[in-house]
Amino acid sequence: MADSHRNAFENAQRQFDLAAEKLNLDQSLRRVLRVPQRELSVNFPVKMDNGEIQVFSGYRVQHNVSRGPAKGGIRYHPAVDIDEVRALAMWMTWKCALVNIPYGGAKGGVIVDPTKLSQSELERLTRRFATEISILVGAEKDIPAPDVGTNGQVMAWFMDTISMHRGYTVPAVITGKPVEVGGSLGRVEATGRGVSIVAREAAKHLGLRIEGATVVIQGFGNVGSVTADMMQRMGSKVIAVSDVSGGYYNRNGLNIPEMIAYTKQHRSLEGYQAAGIERVSNQQILELECDILAPCALENQITEENAGRINCKLLVEGANGPTTPEADDILFERGIFVVPDILANAGGVTVSYFEWVQGLQEFFWTEEEINNKLERIMQHSFESVLAQTLKHKVSMRMGGYMVAVARVAEATQIRGIYP
Ligand code: NAD
Repeated sequence: MADSHRNAFENAQRQFDLAAEKLNLDQSLRRVLRVPQRELSVNFPVKMDNGEIQVFSGYRVQHNVSRGPAKGGIRYHPAVDIDEVRALAMWMTWKCALVNIPYGGAKGGVIVDPTKLSQSELERLTRRFATEISILVGAEKDIPAPDVGTNGQVMAWFMDTISMHRGYTVPAVITGKPVEVGGSLGRVEATGRGVSIVAREAAKHLGLRIEGATVVIQGFGNVGSVTADMMQRMGSKVIAVSDVSGGYYNRNGLNIPEMIAYTKQHRSLEGYQAAGIERVSNQQILELECDILAPCALENQITEENAGRINCKLLVEGANGPTTPEADDILFERGIFVVPDILANAGGVTVSYFEWVQGLQEFFWTEEEINNKLERIMQHSFESVLAQTLKHKVSMRMGGYMVAVARVAEATQIRGIYP
């Protein structure tokens, strides 16, 4: 489980401070960039199926909009809090800048366990939350997307709610929608596809053969399951995966398509059985010997406590903020190559950007066009971060931050401080 004693926002600020120092960034710009620009906190009632009314709390935070409208997912999870949303919003700013798409960073969340709600409760909660934050969102100002605990159906309800208020359909107000209502081909797979593209590029850089490489993945939702599937298609051997129900390990490789089909039917891997599978805990899975480890669940999974025992050559962060700054130092000293979240999982927001553009133009591209454009952006972004990393002899995280923070700082400076 994510360690609640660690404050994700403090970690995000610490990462920013280190990059600002390295870039020798002007002190006034540092003051502007190390805090979110705008935060909305809402408490709202929802009618439950049994007739009771419950009050839920949620947030929408916009970190910086110098490079374009705010962009970032909506999370439904019991551990959501304002600092987590702030951190996620800040990471979105850097991520969009890193892959050079014209967005600022935002994030939203509701404190709720969506697996405990019926479909109709989930719909009412989503429609009311969309209404509460509608003063901030809009196709030209703040565009949400899916994150942990939300999916295409939730995005469709959100889009429909905003459209009902406006009196006409506004597809570009949110991304990650089902294809039937203006979603983009390739969006569901985009984050995992991006994770596997950078894993392949990093392996190439390290001289590690991707065919036959052993892979361990923590989290088996949208990002983790697609990453597992794509890595297997590249010829790697996925030997362990986990979700809230724990870890599933088979050193000879897992049957990923069967496990994906199982989660579609049962919502999680709970109860999944197959010959040769050993059960491990969510902490043990991180310490298994493998070539590539991809944490694809929540923040603060790799800390100073377990970083010394991580047993991979390449760590690719599918999740946002899975590694604390203290753990980063340990991994760097140990020579473990880390592809940071703001690069590794940027495929999602990249195809969200494609979806937004297609929605605004009402002109849709083929899946092949989308995947080719995504491939080019991920590959190019990887190369620019690697170049920065090698030039300054720093970690890939620092290399990525230096590219991203410099872009946002430049945009903020060119626009100037109003008034
Ligand atoms: P999801 O809700 O689809 O899946 C989350 C998965 O994590 C589930 O399998 C859940 O069972 C598992 N999980 C939860 N707690 C866990 C724990 N303590 N240990 C192991 N597994 C646990 O969410 P997702 O969209 O796949 O997001 C996963 C991560 O990727 C998050 O950090 C999210 O911010 C990040 N991310 C998602 C996207 C996207 O497009 N969905 C894009 C970029 C980054």
